[in-house]
Amino acid sequence: MGQKKHAMMRAEDQEAAALGIARRAGVLDYCEIHHVHSHDGGEIEPAYKLGNSLFSSGELEGIFDDRREMTDAIKAAVDSCMPECYSCERLDDD
Ligand SMILES: [Zn+2]
Repeated sequence: MGQKKHAMMRAEDQEAAALGIARRAGVLDYCEIHHVHSHDGGEIEPAYKLGNSLFSSGELEGIFDDRREMTDAIKAAVDSCMPECYSCERLDDD
Protein backbone atom coordinates (compact mmCIF):
# COMPACT_ATOMS: atom_id res chain seq x y z
CA MET A 1 0.00 0.00 0.00
CA GLY A 2 2.64 2.47 1.11
CA GLN A 3 4.92 1.23 -1.60
CA LYS A 4 2.24 1.73 -4.24
CA LYS A 5 1.71 5.30 -3.16
CA HIS A 6 5.43 5.87 -3.30
CA ALA A 7 5.51 4.51 -6.86
CA MET A 8 2.72 6.87 -7.88
CA MET A 9 4.48 9.88 -6.39
CA ARG A 10 7.67 8.82 -8.10
CA ALA A 11 5.87 8.63 -11.45
CA GLU A 12 4.52 12.15 -10.87
CA ASP A 13 7.99 13.41 -10.00
CA GLN A 14 9.36 11.83 -13.14
CA GLU A 15 6.66 13.36 -15.32
CA ALA A 16 7.17 16.80 -13.78
CA ALA A 17 10.94 16.53 -14.20
CA ALA A 18 10.59 15.33 -17.80
CA LEU A 19 8.27 18.23 -18.65
CA GLY A 20 10.66 20.68 -17.01
CA ILE A 21 13.63 19.34 -18.97
CA ALA A 22 11.76 19.47 -22.29
CA ARG A 23 10.60 22.99 -21.51
CA ARG A 24 14.08 24.20 -20.59
CA ALA A 25 15.43 22.62 -23.77
CA GLY A 26 12.88 24.58 -25.80
CA VAL A 27 11.18 21.42 -27.04
CA LEU A 28 7.94 22.27 -25.28
CA ASP A 29 6.14 25.57 -24.99
CA TYR A 30 4.35 26.48 -21.80
CA CYS A 31 1.20 28.57 -21.61
CA GLU A 32 1.52 30.80 -18.53
CA ILE A 33 -2.20 31.60 -18.64
CA HIS A 34 -3.60 28.09 -18.69
CA HIS A 35 -0.58 26.21 -17.30
CA VAL A 36 -0.48 23.85 -20.25
CA HIS A 37 2.58 22.40 -21.96
CA SER A 38 2.43 22.07 -25.73
CA HIS A 39 4.59 20.47 -28.38
CA ASP A 40 4.59 21.83 -31.92
CA GLY A 41 6.14 18.67 -33.37
CA GLY A 42 9.78 19.80 -33.25
CA GLU A 43 12.77 17.57 -32.53
CA ILE A 44 12.83 15.95 -29.10
CA GLU A 45 16.61 15.48 -29.27
CA PRO A 46 17.54 18.73 -27.42
CA ALA A 47 15.54 17.52 -24.41
CA TYR A 48 17.47 14.23 -24.35
CA LYS A 49 20.75 16.14 -24.52
CA LEU A 50 19.80 18.48 -21.71
CA GLY A 51 18.49 15.56 -19.67
CA ASN A 52 21.75 13.68 -20.12
CA SER A 53 23.83 16.64 -18.97
CA LEU A 54 21.56 17.19 -15.95
CA PHE A 55 21.79 13.48 -15.19
CA SER A 56 25.60 13.64 -15.37
CA SER A 57 25.69 16.61 -12.99
CA GLY A 58 23.54 14.71 -10.48
CA GLU A 59 20.57 17.07 -10.65
CA LEU A 60 18.18 14.22 -11.35
CA GLU A 61 19.37 12.02 -8.51
CA GLY A 62 16.48 10.33 -6.73
CA ILE A 63 14.15 10.96 -9.66
CA PHE A 64 15.58 8.72 -12.36
CA ASP A 65 17.63 5.59 -11.73
CA ASP A 66 19.23 5.55 -15.17
CA ARG A 67 19.34 7.50 -18.42
CA ARG A 68 17.01 5.12 -20.19
CA GLU A 69 14.32 5.70 -17.59
CA MET A 70 14.80 9.44 -18.05
CA THR A 71 14.62 9.46 -21.87
CA ASP A 72 11.54 7.22 -21.74
CA ALA A 73 9.89 9.70 -19.36
CA ILE A 74 10.81 12.65 -21.58
CA LYS A 75 9.40 10.91 -24.64
CA ALA A 76 6.18 10.00 -22.82
CA ALA A 77 5.80 13.57 -21.49
CA VAL A 78 6.35 15.16 -24.91
CA ASP A 79 4.07 12.66 -26.64
CA SER A 80 1.29 13.43 -24.18
CA CYS A 81 1.33 17.14 -25.01
CA MET A 82 -1.16 18.85 -27.31
CA PRO A 83 0.22 20.64 -30.42
CA GLU A 84 -0.78 23.93 -28.77
CA CYS A 85 -2.60 25.16 -25.69
CA TYR A 86 -6.18 24.09 -26.38
CA SER A 87 -7.63 26.88 -24.24
CA CYS A 88 -5.78 29.55 -26.22
CA GLU A 89 -6.79 27.83 -29.43
CA ARG A 90 -10.42 27.93 -28.39
CA LEU A 91 -10.19 31.65 -27.57
CA ASP A 92 -8.69 32.31 -31.00
CA ASP A 93 -11.66 30.66 -32.67
CA ASP A 94 -14.21 32.92 -31.00
ZN1 LIG B 1 -3.28 29.02 -23.09
